[in-house]
Amino acid sequence: MRIHVDQIQEEGLELAFEESFEQFPVLAQLKAEGECDFPKPLQIVLALRRLDSLYEMQGEFTTIVKLACCRCLNDFEMPLSAVFTLIYSPIPVFTDSVGSNEVIELTDQDVELVMFDGNEIDTGSALQEQVVLALPYQPLCRQTCKGLCSTCGSDLNVKPCRCREKAVDPRLAILQRLKSP
Ligand SMILES: [Zn+2]
Ligand SMILES: [Zn+2]
Repeated sequence: MRIHVDQIQEEGLELAFEESFEQFPVLAQLKAEGECDFPKPLQIVLALRRLDSLYEMQGEFTTIVKLACCRCLNDFEMPLSAVFTLIYSPIPVFTDSVGSNEVIELTDQDVELVMFDGNEIDTGSALQEQVVLALPYQPLCRQTCKGLCSTCGSDLNVKPCRCREKAVDPRLAILQRLKSP
């Protein structure tokens, strides 16, 4: 969603809306590549206010994401949400070499500074970045997921297989061979 800076008056601007993942190119690409799916729209709340020549955006999104468990490979759904604060600057405040939409990490603060051209703030790129950052690095269907047997491939959450019983310690196998005439 694009917001014209004139919409942000002294009292600030609060927005609450729903957006399908398809509105966000990076999320649509993740889905297309089979990385994850977003079965429900994103619920988004944004609060924008002026800070002198800058604009502060406090935001929050919540949704459901469908991921493949990294141990058992089964799909599962989990809630996904994040709270974030961004500062939009209409002019490069630090160096001339900073182009539009470049992100500068402010030290000491968990706040990002985003440059923007002209009079419109594009909230979409910030939102999709927050969604990607919130995705788990190693998705697990549950903390205790037992995963797949490396020998027979069966899902050990469903039922234990007998591979481990049958497996012979290779060191014992050598000893057995040495003993036999
Ligand atoms: Zn699992
Ligand atoms: Zn097995």
